[in-house]
Amino acid sequence: MSTYHIAVLPGDGIGPEVTESAIRVLKQVEKLYDFSLELESFDAGAERFLKTGVTMPEDTFKHCKEADAILMGAIGLPEARHPDGREVNGDVIFRLRFDLDLYAGVRPCRLYEGVTSPLRDVSKGLDYVIVRENVEGLYASRTGGCNVRNEVATDTIIMTRTGISKISEFAFKLAQKRNGRPLDGTSMVTCVDKANVLSSYAYFRSVFNDIADRYPDISRDYAYVDAMTLYQVLSPHMFDVVVAENMFADIISDLSSATIGGLGMAPSGDIGDHHAMFQPSHGTAPGIAGKNIANPVATILSGAMMLEWLSERHNDPVLAKAAGHIEQAVEAVLSKGLSKTADIGGKSGTEEVGNAVVNALML
Ligand code: ATP
Ligand code: MG
Repeated sequence: MSTYHIAVLPGDGIGPEVTESAIRVLKQVEKLYDFSLELESFDAGAERFLKTGVTMPEDTFKHCKEADAILMGAIGLPEARHPDGREVNGDVIFRLRFDLDLYAGVRPCRLYEGVTSPLRDVSKGLDYVIVRENVEGLYASRTGGCNVRNEVATDTIIMTRTGISKISEFAFKLAQKRNGRPLDGTSMVTCVDKANVLSSYAYFRSVFNDIADRYPDISRDYAYVDAMTLYQVLSPHMFDVVVAENMFADIISDLSSATIGGLGMAPSGDIGDHHAMFQPSHGTAPGIAGKNIANPVATILSGAMMLEWLSERHNDPVLAKAAGHIEQAVEAVLSKGLSKTADIGGKSGTEEVGNAVVNALML
């Protein structure tokens, strides 16, 4: 039986509550399958920064690096800032993302039965995944490309052939593993950019095309980012895998989570070739922290993504079965209306939803 070491960073705000539910689910599924998880929690985040001036000690980073995977709640509080005004969540999230080269931000966007979408018509299906380039693009400007001088502010977008190739490969490989579009089961990767206006995005598209040529079995498509927001609302069934530059993907993935019931339903993974970190797409939501009302589903599903990734990396099919089992349990709880938090129209607390998923695992 294989043992996997997981570094857990519960973090701040609702982070610890939703992480606790996800851990209970993982511990239950571990009992049902032949693998074991060694979960070790570390204190990192804004609370820690406020107490000690350090957001994540070096030793914790080392543990994260040595772990088989990282599970995170959420990090940051509005009042925790560096003297220059920067929020401290970057001390953890950017540090792990950049130093462990977690270049692919994976954001599944699937509407579960029993959850109401604000979209008028979802009868044709809503189940796609956004792959976000995580370490380049416009946000990379913060590492030295920004400048404010003589009342003029500039930022620099960074697009490299290596970076675009890696993220495009990732997207096509993911499309090979998925079931295709809800529309007709065909596999497709959609490149989202602004190639008609900016040369950096035209370059993104041309490198994407070079990679697409190697995957003749998967069709390719393009959308300008402005039109993309429209398609996400009017015809989400068109999409299978969507790949985009860092900032564009950040924006369109918030929209996609709104279409599936909100941030509390949106899991995510930050994945590299050797390391990976899994966390809900939402932040610390300090306004609802400590009230047992946060939706733990995004974090529970992030835990399932973690098992799926470990399965592939260690060639251990039992973990993929366990991951599928968690998804089915979530599906059962939501579709039967067994337990839901207020953000998706229910009355249950965080703990109750976690317990309902644990119980559903045993059915
Ligand atoms: P960050 O800057 O860390 O991204 P944010 O300001 O974008 O944080 P979030 O913490 O993501 O904000 O939350 C935005 C809103 O969404 C919150 O006010 C909260 O009401 C809601 N929300 C987020 N996560 C959840 C959840 N798990 N369950 C219920 N509601 C949530
Ligand atoms: Mg946010």
